[in-house]
Amino acid sequence: MVYRGRFAPSPTGELHAGSLLAALASWLRARHAEGQWLVRVEDIDPPREVPGSKRSILAALESLELYADEPVLFQSRRVDAYAEALRRLQADGHAFPCWCSRAELEAAGIVHRDGRCISPPRDDRQPAWRLRVPDAEITFEDVLQGPQNQNVRDAVGDFVLKRADGLWSYQLACVVDDIFQDITEVVRSCDLLDSTPRQILLQCLLGLPTPAYLHLPLLVDAEGRKLSKSTGAPAVPAHDPQTALAQALRLLDQDVPDALDAGTMLQIAARRFDLSPLRGVTALSVRDVC
Ligand code: GLU
Repeated sequence: MVYRGRFAPSPTGELHAGSLLAALASWLRARHAEGQWLVRVEDIDPPREVPGSKRSILAALESLELYADEPVLFQSRRVDAYAEALRRLQADGHAFPCWCSRAELEAAGIVHRDGRCISPPRDDRQPAWRLRVPDAEITFEDVLQGPQNQNVRDAVGDFVLKRADGLWSYQLACVVDDIFQDITEVVRSCDLLDSTPRQILLQCLLGLPTPAYLHLPLLVDAEGRKLSKSTGAPAVPAHDPQTALAQALRLLDQDVPDALDAGTMLQIAARRFDLSPLRGVTALSVRDVC
């Protein structure tokens, strides 16, 4: 089987050191396995989108010479596939409509766990659609973080598949597209480790295969907060790809190849790429290398 990995940024800001780590590690895993690497832009939440960030993230990847093997997939063009997946879940009795607003649920401290909505159906607005989550333990072995288990019903309850405003949930879209793109291993940061049982559950209910999962340590700032676009993490200096890549390689505990250009540096790093020093590490501080 050919290894197929992917990097799946949301266009909510520029590529920063944390997202570069995920992009680079997934690229290196794919190249090390002589497989393919794809880029998927997760642009299904327009209110959270930062104008221009799709273009700037893709331009940064190009400058860093992290080239994809296939054209970029935009989730905004995939809504028919998400609707089809929801139809299948509805037909099999796995999804139910919900008219509760998030504010009402939060105010009442309610988490849906009974496979049904507690508000009366309404004619004046569309419902959200939630998954009827079974009371079952989901277990998997993360390539870097080891054995994991979660009872999704207890941990998150009946989660949303499609929001009342018509937007698709990350969980459903991600599952549908990882399969559509034939992804064999998902490499991303540990902040999504607890989303993985929800995604495995959806794969089971949709009769889809489960890829391997590798969750990288999350990059945190000096105060221990997740480095993120929304908290203003600085953009990767893509005009100086060698320095940006060297810093990311050091964070991943890899030797930095002595090379004349970014492309050669990447080729050498891919050949000897080994993440075992990071086994079980869930967070890294930018202080460690800067
Ligand atoms: N779009 C998500 C993010 O930017 C990543 C999703 C994933 O890798 O599954 O955080």
